[in-house]
Amino acid sequence: MCYAIPGKIIEIKGDIAVVDYFGEHRNALNKFLKAKIGEYVYAQGGILIDKLPESEAVEILKIWQDKFFELKKTDRRLAKTTTTDSTVYSHPLLELMQKVNLNKELTKNELLTLLKAKNRDELNLIYTTANNIRQKEHDNACCVHGIIEFSNYCRNNCLYCGIRKEADLNKVERYRMTEEEIFNAAKYAVKELGFKALVFQSGEDEWFSEEKLIKLIKEISKLNILIFISIGLRPKETYKKLYDAGAKAVLLRFETSNKRLFEKLRPNTSFDERIQLIKELKQIGYIVATGFLIGLPDETDDDIINNILLTKELKADMYSFGPFIPSENTLLLHHKVVDKNIVLKAIAISRFVDRDSNILVTTALETLDKDARTQGLLAGANSLMINLTPTKFKKKYMIYKRRYDAQKPIKEEITETINMLYSLGRAPMDINYED
Ligand code: SF4
Repeated sequence: MCYAIPGKIIEIKGDIAVVDYFGEHRNALNKFLKAKIGEYVYAQGGILIDKLPESEAVEILKIWQDKFFELKKTDRRLAKTTTTDSTVYSHPLLELMQKVNLNKELTKNELLTLLKAKNRDELNLIYTTANNIRQKEHDNACCVHGIIEFSNYCRNNCLYCGIRKEADLNKVERYRMTEEEIFNAAKYAVKELGFKALVFQSGEDEWFSEEKLIKLIKEISKLNILIFISIGLRPKETYKKLYDAGAKAVLLRFETSNKRLFEKLRPNTSFDERIQLIKELKQIGYIVATGFLIGLPDETDDDIINNILLTKELKADMYSFGPFIPSENTLLLHHKVVDKNIVLKAIAISRFVDRDSNILVTTALETLDKDARTQGLLAGANSLMINLTPTKFKKKYMIYKRRYDAQKPIKEEITETINMLYSLGRAPMDINYED
């Protein structure tokens, strides 16, 4: 099983290759692979990452042929809007959905109205409208990335984080995977499990020096995958060197657009510095995934809408946000957990605000409710991650409590996720390249 379908290059336009997937065409950046017309390729995140022999591609496509069209049918059926009985919806909501369908921009007050919706029928209408737009923009393509959490050491003390530097050492068992363990976990994910894109995540762990990271990225690059890094604040120059070494995507959330809240919850770190770095990462050429936490103490509805708008303003290639789930290792343990529907509404609103965005459903959302990941995909999301950290380390990366995926064997988690995607008619295809 592979979590990317190969496509054939049918046209080259400068650095862009047009890739055909059973008649459907998508643009992908060809700058690094330099593939030619007629070659079969894998793309991830809008970038061509690997070629494969025609014989192998044809075999894989044969397996996908019927399934591909069958999945599309399921997706289209589930993405149909259901506005048959308008009497159950309030007038203002119908007007807002009309505006959304006409591709008109909603004002901040209108976005707040959507965020405040509570009635079950109204929520359904918001979610199905968002899912319908997702279907129109991306068809049934869904990115499936793996994530490997390679160190839970961190120099920071974010008040909400279970692996913060000063977390009780009786509760957090620190670990740092060796370079060999990281590479072997990546190799296993690619060769045995079929992943084409992997996220390498850690706390801000200075033990992994620039030199060590460059060496590691160069080694992993040999696997011909899309390498995402999620390592927190590092100098722009370091990120540039990591990009040159082969990392082409980065996950760096700004956590909250509320500067006062940011600086209260993340002592000794700077909001402006983080935002500046996210902008610089875009300039370097990284695919940037960014976003925020929902449900932080003292957060307002206004903050949530501002978070979505800031993600758009930062030109995120992927929206990554999830619920704040209190951790045993923090003083915020007894803070109330955010309602799942707030997160689903944020997904739908992000889709309305930035129609062709890629929106990730996080495993944190699934921790709130085992069906929430499915619901997130049905509320406008089109991307997800599977945790591939070796089990003995995974349970130690406790950024929040009761992590849904912490105990589950990796293969079981993959099978469940893929079956869930198929039940929704989603195919693990690449997304379009956006300049
Ligand atoms: S949120 Fe990130 S930077 Fe903050 S303590 Fe946790 S791992 Fe470190």
